[in-house]
Amino acid sequence: MAHKKLFIPGPTEVREEVLKAQGQWMIGHRSKDFGELNKRCIDKSKQILNTKNYLFWYTSSGTGCMEGALRNVVTGKILHTVNGAFSDRWFKISKACGKQASSLAVEWGKAIKPEMVDAELAKGGYQAVTITQNETSTGVRNPIEDIAKLVRTKYPDVLILVDAVSGIMGDWFDIDGLGLDIVVASSQKAVALPPGLAISVISQRALDKCRTVTDRGYYFDYDAMLKRYEKDFQTPTTPAVSLFWALDLQLDAILKEGMQNRYQRHLEMARFTRDWTAKYFKVYAEPGYESVTLTTAANTRNIVVKDLNSELGKRGMQISNGYGDIKEKTFRIAHMGDLTMADMKEVTTAIVDVLKL
Ligand SMILES: *Cc1c(COP(=O)(O)O)cnc(C)c1O
Repeated sequence: MAHKKLFIPGPTEVREEVLKAQGQWMIGHRSKDFGELNKRCIDKSKQILNTKNYLFWYTSSGTGCMEGALRNVVTGKILHTVNGAFSDRWFKISKACGKQASSLAVEWGKAIKPEMVDAELAKGGYQAVTITQNETSTGVRNPIEDIAKLVRTKYPDVLILVDAVSGIMGDWFDIDGLGLDIVVASSQKAVALPPGLAISVISQRALDKCRTVTDRGYYFDYDAMLKRYEKDFQTPTTPAVSLFWALDLQLDAILKEGMQNRYQRHLEMARFTRDWTAKYFKVYAEPGYESVTLTTAANTRNIVVKDLNSELGKRGMQISNGYGDIKEKTFRIAHMGDLTMADMKEVTTAIVDVLKL
């Protein structure tokens, strides 16, 4: 198939070198070699994310780790903050798992504010709260730092569960400093790998809580994952070995770039794409809460997004239509992973050209 450079918020563009790393000879997942590969990936990920928490790469998409988080630690009331499709998904997963779930919902495009969370948690009895660090449907970056500070100060016992699927290794936030209990993310967003792996970063107290939960399930069981890791650095079930080769290589590249440089590159691409969007359309996100890894544009010119995308396809590029209910009313340009300013200039210039703006 012809190559289209992906400006969609997952799967993102993967460098050829990373794609090729998957093509190595298969090794047994019970080999010493796999244990070493897994350990390298975990150690480097912790270094990049500057965390001392437990960290595991699961063979799953991010949604699996969202469900896993709930199953491992939530036995009572949980509050889901909802301001888009993905934050709503976590609420739905919670209900599907039979959790005592309630939601704090705000209009799409708006951010969740600490005072809203405060008002809800003040009602009492909550065990955990979920926050979507970067809402990929609306292009809103929720103020995770302020929300976490509020929860940690006023509700120290409430576990903070974070969906950072489209933020991790692009955007920056301090997992340990903020006292986040569980952070989940996928490989196919800002990490810029093919889909198939997902990360869970787990605090000591989340692990301690998990050990008291009797029906925490099997596949995502944190304690089982840790026990196997402590034995021989392996995983309880068969991992996607090929993806681990690619991950190993990509983590080296991220370390070489430096996470803070990577974050600055994302900020620069975000500012550029946001300014461009404001000039020709309108930024969908509430001002001050715009995503660092993608921009959702309100389709103020009533263009047919589908047609724009097929024209861009002829030029070897692809952007994303709006998500769910806001399809065609919005469109999304991702600026995450290994994309550069040159790429952002290329795609925005092409859009101007196609639409004759
Ligand atoms: C993509 C995405 C998900 C879903 O992740 P999968 O890897 O597709 O399961 C969840 N949350 C957010 C914020 C996302 O961007």
